[in-house]
This record gives sequence, structure tokens and C-alpha cells, in this order.
Amino acid sequence: MLHSKSPLIHNTMIEVLGLDYDYVCQPVKREELVAWLERVRTEGWAGFNATMPHKQALVPYMDELDEDARLYGAVNTVCYRNGTFCGFNTDGAGFARALTMCSIPIQGTRFTLLGAGGAARAVALKLVQQGAAHITVCNRTAEHALALVAHAPQVMSATGFSSEELAAACNRCDVLINCTNLGMVGSAEFESLDFVDALPKGAPVCDLIYHPLETALMTRAGAQGHPVMNGLPLLIQQAILALEHFAQVEIDAKTVFPKVCAALDAAQ
Ligand code: NAP
Repeated sequence: MLHSKSPLIHNTMIEVLGLDYDYVCQPVKREELVAWLERVRTEGWAGFNATMPHKQALVPYMDELDEDARLYGAVNTVCYRNGTFCGFNTDGAGFARALTMCSIPIQGTRFTLLGAGGAARAVALKLVQQGAAHITVCNRTAEHALALVAHAPQVMSATGFSSEELAAACNRCDVLINCTNLGMVGSAEFESLDFVDALPKGAPVCDLIYHPLETALMTRAGAQGHPVMNGLPLLIQQAILALEHFAQVEIDAKTVFPKVCAALDAAQ
């Protein structure tokens, strides 16, 4: 967590927008959550972002929850305003904004999602909410995929993670999204990327991973002429949404995005 890119992203946006905030990393152990909330209260913090293992644990401590936090049963952005804690979840909305930024439509589109973990869940439920035509969830552990699909069985279906199953799912989608850890620095790689060959010509390929900035999946898809997107647009759009909540301002992504990318590049 101390290697998080969030302080750099937020503090760059804060500077660009001339806001009077400072964003810092604060490690909080599982058992320290209540004490941390008390600190926020007494020290008058504007709010904070939360990551695992706190996202679900925070829910019962919130005085208010936004629709997505209720839907996902998890909170990743907390504002402390007028003595109350307001919990938000920006995972799905950040991804929807990232797709829009990359001119990838959601309504009427068929998606194939690789993975059924926390990120896949946020992405899938937002795609359903915004009118995706169909979502095929491919996952190694069948019960995780089935549990996700159970949220909207009319538009989602589950399949496995064999080469044949991945190729079949790619063949019948318009957009492929990798929501697994495969390809991330420190994680395993896909055993085979041959499923990319089954994608329709020109189908966009999104990888939620941003470390590395270009995964093997993106390289293979890009070489075959597919537009590719890494996880940075999602990461930055989530930060924009969080800062909009903290500071109660509307942020023009076009203004801050290039500055944040430049700051991240310089810090590489
Ligand atoms: P998670 O809840 O732990 O889920 C991991 C998923 O990857 C599960 O579906 C898991 O399958 C699958 N998986 C892991 N190892 C695998 C392997 N060897 N073979 C096949 N499948 C495997 O993690 P998460 O929070 O959803 O995050 C997933 C990825 O999204 C990570 O790389 C993370 O960095 C990225 N992410 C990016 C952003 C961003 O802002 N860009 C935000 C959130 C997440 P099983 O169900 O079988 O275990």
C-alpha cells in the first residue's frame, strides 16, 4: 500500500485544481479500523480511500451509502462531512468513465470478462446497470463465476478458463476485459494467449492491470490490430471521482488526465 500511486495522482490533481488538501497514505490494520474512524472524526479529515481488507468492513460504520456502495456491499471512498460518514464505491463508475473516455460503448455491447473477483464484480454490475447486451464471465473457479452471474442471470453467463472455453467466449463478444491478476508484475502469466485469435476483428481489449503498463495480453492484441486499454484510465477516473466527493467539485477529466499521466511517467 505504501507503494500506492494514489498520493501522486491525487496530489497532482489537487495542485492542478488549486485545492487546499493533502493526500497521504495511511496504513491501517484490520483490527485498527474503528480507531482509524475515530481519528478521522477527531482530527477532521475530509475523507479517505479504502482498499482491502477494509472495503466490506466499513459498510456498517457508514451513516450514508451511495447506490453503488449498497449494490457492491463495499466502500472505497469515505467522506466525513458535518459529523457523518458517507460511503461511496467508485469502482464501477470509474470503469464506465474509462470506457467512455476510450470511446467504447456499453449499451448493447457484448462483453467477455476474464475473472470473477472483486474488480470483475464491480465492472460486471456496472455494465449490467448501463445496458450491456451480454456478459460472459470466464473464471478458473466455477463457483466464483456462478455467484457473480447470479446477480443478473438474464444478461450474464458463466464459463470456464480452458483454452477452448476462452476462445469460444472471445468469439462471441465485442469487447474483452481482463479482470484477473494474470500478466501483472509478480503474478503468473496466461498459459496461452491463443484465445486472442478468436476475437472479432477490431474488438477492443481492456486490461485492468497498470503494472506493467502494457501486459502480454495487450501486446498480443495490439499486434493483431485490436485497440487496447490498460488499467490507468480506471485508476485515474476513480481518483477523479473520489476527489469530486471529497472536495465537492466537478472535475474536467480532460484537464487533469494529461498532467496525472505526466506525473506518473516522471515517477517511473
Ligand atoms: P481478486 O478479487 O483477487 O480476483 C482475482 C481474479 O483473478 C479471480 O477471478 C481469480 O480466479 C483470477 N486468478 C488469479 N490467479 C489466477 C490464475 N493463476 N489463473 C486463472 N485465474 C486466476 O482480485 P481483484 O481485486 O478482482 O483484482 C484483479 C486485477 O484487477 C488485479 O490485477 C488488480 O491489480 C486489477 N485492478 C485494477 C484496478 C485499476 O484501478 N486499474 C482496480 C482494481 C483491480 P479464482 O476465482 O479462480 O481465484
